[in-house]
Amino acid sequence: MSVPQQQKEHSHDFRYYACINLWDNGETVAAVDVWRCSICHVKGTELRAQGLNNLAAEAGFRELDGPDSNWLVFVCGAEERLKFELLNLHVGDTIKHECVEKSPPIRVGSGYKLEDKNDRFHKIESIENYLNETLDLALPRHQ
Ligand SMILES: [Zn+2]
Ligand SMILES: [Zn+2]
Repeated sequence: MSVPQQQKEHSHDFRYYACINLWDNGETVAAVDVWRCSICHVKGTELRAQGLNNLAAEAGFRELDGPDSNWLVFVCGAEERLKFELLNLHVGDTIKHECVEKSPPIRVGSGYKLEDKNDRFHKIESIENYLNETLDLALPRHQ
């Protein structure tokens, strides 16, 4: 069985790739650091937020994206304070989430957008669209 070049075993050679600033109400509330393997291009991420110290870069990344997954920022705006999470997801995946808006399972649709276009309380954004830029976490109704 032949293995595609990219997937041959190697030790990942992570290089710092990009940073994404996460904004809430005009303030940076967190940042996502992205490292990418120079050989196979998988990406590991680290979320830096106030009161949250993630040592992924030193300890090795817990999770890496793959050819058919993507790092997404999931935002819940159902409560006064925006909540967000950084997740590695595939199209068709269901996001485990509970909040005051008892929404049905939240599913990742094509193009890494929410499958339910009428969900006004949640959104997902692929970090790929915000490399070295600012991602505003606000949902449309908050803007
Ligand atoms: Zn690699
Ligand atoms: Zn929610």
